[in-house]
Amino acid sequence: MKAVFAPTDYEGLQAAIPALLDRAARAKDRHRMDCRAAASLAHELWLGHLFALDEMASVTPLAPEALSEPELRGLAILRRAREKFRAEHFQCRCGAILPNYAGFCGQCGEKYRQPAGSGTVR
Ligand SMILES: [Zn+2]
Repeated sequence: MKAVFAPTDYEGLQAAIPALLDRAARAKDRHRMDCRAAASLAHELWLGHLFALDEMASVTPLAPEALSEPELRGLAILRRAREKFRAEHFQCRCGAILPNYAGFCGQCGEKYRQPAGSGTVR
């Protein structure tokens, strides 16, 4: 077993984020997300920290000098992954998050012509 330090495992973080975003998008109640692991516990804990930092940054600017190198790089990875996820998904009128290639919504049954998405996931 290879030991990794999640905050500086940038490739591991980059690999874990899409599954977490997908899981969050599929959760009917964001506060009661499926707890099955999408990544190692260490990566999920570090990503939780990064999501919290990003949320704080949306309210008040964070001074870059107040953040560590792993936080700065992790935030950049998180933001790029989220933008990619948004570009590849759209929100159905029922609120379900669907991949752009979806022909129908599994939640409400709405049918879509290809390509369906407009990248409107929030
Ligand atoms: Zn729907």
